[in-house]
Amino acid sequence: MKIHYSLAALGCLLPLVSASYASTGSPFYGDPPDNTHPWAVHDWNRPQPPRVEPRPYDAAKAQAPADAVVLFDGTAESLNRKWEADKSGHEATKWVVSDGAMECTPGSGYIRTKEAFGDCQLHVEWAAPVHVKGDSQGRGNSGVFLMGMVEIQVLDNYNNPTYADGFACAVYGVHPPLANALRPPGEFQSEDITFHRPVYQDGKCIQPGWVTVYCNGVLVQDRTQLEGGTGHMARSKPGPLPETGPLKLQDHGNPVRFRNIWYRPLPSQAPAGGYNGPMTPAAAAAKRQEIAAAIRSDAARLANPAAPMAGFYRLAESLYYDKDKATLAQVEQTASQYITSLKGLAGEQFLAKKEEARHLRDVLKYLMRAQVIDGTFTAKADLDQLIKEQNWDKKK
Ligand code: MG
Repeated sequence: MKIHYSLAALGCLLPLVSASYASTGSPFYGDPPDNTHPWAVHDWNRPQPPRVEPRPYDAAKAQAPADAVVLFDGTAESLNRKWEADKSGHEATKWVVSDGAMECTPGSGYIRTKEAFGDCQLHVEWAAPVHVKGDSQGRGNSGVFLMGMVEIQVLDNYNNPTYADGFACAVYGVHPPLANALRPPGEFQSEDITFHRPVYQDGKCIQPGWVTVYCNGVLVQDRTQLEGGTGHMARSKPGPLPETGPLKLQDHGNPVRFRNIWYRPLPSQAPAGGYNGPMTPAAAAAKRQEIAAAIRSDAARLANPAAPMAGFYRLAESLYYDKDKATLAQVEQTASQYITSLKGLAGEQFLAKKEEARHLRDVLKYLMRAQVIDGTFTAKADLDQLIKEQNWDKKK
């Protein structure tokens, strides 16, 4: 009975405790420090971001580039067309549009984009309510959720301290912003985000995700590493993310306003099929074959028995992407025929071929360096011999 009594008492207390600390945090709140994280989640002992005064808003710099996907252009029409309530079905959002901005209707719930996307450059502008109310996490709170899973915090931290990893532009619960470059409440903050999701293979993270954020032009997240999604009070749990997800905006009970939202999809990281950085050997080999095939088709277009060398050089070029045996044999045959015909020339006609012959020799030398051909490639030895005999490398 005693146990039941205690649990019942705890049950009454817990909601009170979490409600009272929801806006301020407590030393006994988020996940504790561990072997690789010296601070607890939402740790007040973590230093506050230093204040950096931002430059004035620059409308030209915030404009969507030509290839951007505009998610909100300031009209109710674009809110209805591009966004919906973050609920199980497809429901219109109850957020409202006025003066070119959409405003969170407290209690109406998160909203999400109808389209899903992954790695991206994202631009968002937001403004906390001009009438300041509440403190810490209770003042002008919202959030930009990349793929619906990684929160970049939206909060009125103008003269409003909070736990550092919950600051505006924090990767929430993961990493505080490097600076507090906010404008006063009521003014729009310009946020530019670059996001790459983590790449997992067979349940293992082979490339972390990255988030870079500029707040009002000030770098506040510098390729912050990400292994999984973010959460409240809990350490980010490493784990695979889907390839895409909707962008979500948070209803945290404050009428925060948003405007000018656009994104540009970015190529994946190399291990996920992109080309920025070393690729997996299988992906690199597949791409090399694709490049080689394109070059061979160009060589076929150039094929001309009367002037074979243009096509020949393209074929030779294809070999260092893909050492295809049939192409290699064709290249050797054409090179041998060229050298035979060269030897058949005499006088001025022969001498006129000097630079052409030296060029071919350099190409074959390169192919040897690239380990496409070796000492058994007799055309190279023949050409080397001919150039040596004619003393064609001698400088005048
Ligand atoms: Mg939030």
